[in-house]
Amino acid sequence: MYQLGTKWKLWNLQQLSQEIVDSISPLYRGYNLESPISLAADFSYVEEGVKPLSVEQIAHDECSTRRDLYLSKRLRVGGEETTTWGRIAGVLIDDFCKGLTIYFHGLAEHPEGLNYQKIEELAQQYTDKFLCKHKTPLNNLKSRARTEEEQPEYLAYLLKQTAKYELIMIGADFYSSQVPGQQFVPLMQSIPIHFDKKSVQIHPGTHLGISDNNTPDFIIIDDPIVIGEIKSGNILLPHHLHTIAGYALAYESEHGADINFGIVYFFQTHSTSKEKNFAQSYFFVIGDILRKGFLSAREEAYKTLLMDLPPMLLRDKSEESYKRTCTYCKYFSYCYPTTNGKS
Ligand code: SF4
Repeated sequence: MYQLGTKWKLWNLQQLSQEIVDSISPLYRGYNLESPISLAADFSYVEEGVKPLSVEQIAHDECSTRRDLYLSKRLRVGGEETTTWGRIAGVLIDDFCKGLTIYFHGLAEHPEGLNYQKIEELAQQYTDKFLCKHKTPLNNLKSRARTEEEQPEYLAYLLKQTAKYELIMIGADFYSSQVPGQQFVPLMQSIPIHFDKKSVQIHPGTHLGISDNNTPDFIIIDDPIVIGEIKSGNILLPHHLHTIAGYALAYESEHGADINFGIVYFFQTHSTSKEKNFAQSYFFVIGDILRKGFLSAREEAYKTLLMDLPPMLLRDKSEESYKRTCTYCKYFSYCYPTTNGKS
């Protein structure tokens, strides 16, 4: 997480992106009570007993027809929660990051002795402790591994490299702060990341047509405020960015403040090059295009809920989205009851 602060300062992103931030139209701010921010009155479905959708439900459009939404909201099909490799890894990564931030906040109070060797030791210590505490989910990962990259050892290595990289950022920041004339301030002051539920809960205005309770993974409560998500998988996907745009609109509608920046802290758990990597932070401006992307996903989602029949199935099972999405979906056996196995 410390890489966020260091990059923020080094790149001076706020200044760099001032022009694009200034170009964000007031029409696309969450506090605008008119169209296109307000959910159109046609979607009165919300008032007829179907609870408003959450930001995640709207933005997560991997089921390209939104049949999953229809099944859950209109037909109230429960589906089978499947514990996939990705879901177990996602929970482990979330826990690792939250613990890492607390651990590093402690270390950053006395960073004087941080040299390369010490960093190696501390990263190893933290990772070993974490892996020991999470033996059961790691064993579950082993039993669900489908490829070489899905071995728990690979994930453990990725986590350790991330811990090491983050720790190097504390060290670098500390030593930079010793240089006379440098503008650096200790990262723990410059990057107040909040993970706790109370700080990250967002209660949007009802005009957005979004459920009352939305929780991004973290918020940097500073000037500027930055909304962040921890994600893992093969690649960064558009819905990752649309999710943050949705949270930004929700936050703007609740607080009347502008949210201009988002971060995805991304773990590439399946590296095609087989090279060992570490988590990367992806900063971006939540510009009009992303805002429109989220709003059009919202319109699509509510339009789907107004249909008389559920959206069609994906008939062609060779389609990439069938393999990538359906076989991991909790409605798989409902949608494809005659298919044996999930591959
Ligand atoms: S199984 Fe496929 S078509 Fe059915 S809801 Fe899931 S993703 Fe959509």
